[in-house]
Amino acid sequence: MKQQAEPYVSTTNACKLCKPLGACLAFRGIEGAVPFLHGSQGCATYMRRYVISHFREPMDIASSSLGEKQAVYGGGPNLKQGLKNVTNKYEAKLIGVATTCLTETIGDDVAGIVREFRLESTNGGGNGTTPVVTVSTPSYSGTHMEGFHAAVKAVVEQLAEGGEPLDTVNLMPGFVSPADIRYLKEILADFGVPGIILPDISETLDGPAQTDYEKIPAGGTPVADIVAMGRSRATLEFGRTLFGQATAGQVLADRFQVPLEQLGMPIGLRETDRFFQALAEVAGKPTPLRHDLERGRLIDAMVDGHKYVFDKKAVVYGEEDLVVGLAAFLAEIGIRPVLCASGGKSGRFEEAIAQVTGDLLPEAPIIREGMDFYEIAEAAKALSPDLLIGHSKGYHLARRWGVPLIRVGFPIHDRFGGQRILHLGYRGAQSLLDRLVNALLEKKQMDSPVGYGYL
Ligand code: SF4
Repeated sequence: MKQQAEPYVSTTNACKLCKPLGACLAFRGIEGAVPFLHGSQGCATYMRRYVISHFREPMDIASSSLGEKQAVYGGGPNLKQGLKNVTNKYEAKLIGVATTCLTETIGDDVAGIVREFRLESTNGGGNGTTPVVTVSTPSYSGTHMEGFHAAVKAVVEQLAEGGEPLDTVNLMPGFVSPADIRYLKEILADFGVPGIILPDISETLDGPAQTDYEKIPAGGTPVADIVAMGRSRATLEFGRTLFGQATAGQVLADRFQVPLEQLGMPIGLRETDRFFQALAEVAGKPTPLRHDLERGRLIDAMVDGHKYVFDKKAVVYGEEDLVVGLAAFLAEIGIRPVLCASGGKSGRFEEAIAQVTGDLLPEAPIIREGMDFYEIAEAAKALSPDLLIGHSKGYHLARRWGVPLIRVGFPIHDRFGGQRILHLGYRGAQSLLDRLVNALLEKKQMDSPVGYGYL
């Protein structure tokens, strides 16, 4: 019997971003790297605008700048010319080439073109030695998070090598804020663990003021460290929806036998406890006192704030692993995440949320993958949420419903300091808790007919 095709439903205000955009963000976290899009100029312009508006940092993204002619005859010559220009003008230590919708549709063999380029460049006396990492990122089949993870995996696959074991520990945190990465570095240092964090956007996307424009900002994971990742003694990788998947950490485990520990994004108390426990095992020492004290202060604040947040209802949306971590945290503090939504479609979102909230919530939340904001609004209509938690694209819903929006993740285009929001660890949970409680108190105060100054 002929199968009935699923009816086409258009996307209205997507709750995800373009796949190569995620790849460009990952490449930006490598020292001396230039992200390069094989596609039309417009793709690079859109992504630069998005990234700059959130991070408030310059972001060069090179492009092979394809037009109609290349769409018909192929973009190989443009890609080679672009790589030559970037090699000569940027003195890049690495060029990260991500494909786009256009070049995936016309079927350019990007890895093959890059091989040809390197051969021609070397034979012609040019610099054929700049590493070029290629990643396939058709945006019509994924999200920016998938592009981010694909780029990290491609970097490891194409650069990491084995050899004499080192004392280092690889940490793949996923796409978190520069403030989160700085905090992770601090934690590793306090445990005395020499870490290789990939990627590291802590400086490249949140750097100090410069008197002169730097074509490539300082910071990022050094290429030599990435090469050495196959010799590390362990890999820690964040993201429950990545469990059991062919990730960068899995590549290192399969090829170089680097033991892999996959953890949830350490958001909230229990997921952070698991991360600190893993670090304590790797370091062979207990959690340093200052972090234990931060944990204690967080629990104290949870008790103090409970009366303000208890039984409130939240709609949480955004990247899948971020939503999983936030749902875990909300359940811990007594807020009910009534709807958890993401534009991602990993097929593992629901299970991951059940793992972290199942024993805490009296009733499972509605969990939806592949959602856009039209669908989120429809699903949330009957739930009467008290607050929204997610990136700034949900602002129109918060405004329509007259509830606070706690801005987290990416992109945050309507507030200042998105790159400095802390999500991870005890410190991140403390900051989120303070913001949540205060947003609810402010709403109560604003709605009060008489106003009051003591809570
Ligand atoms: S055309 Fe595709 S790759 Fe380019 S910006 Fe749009 S979604 Fe991204």
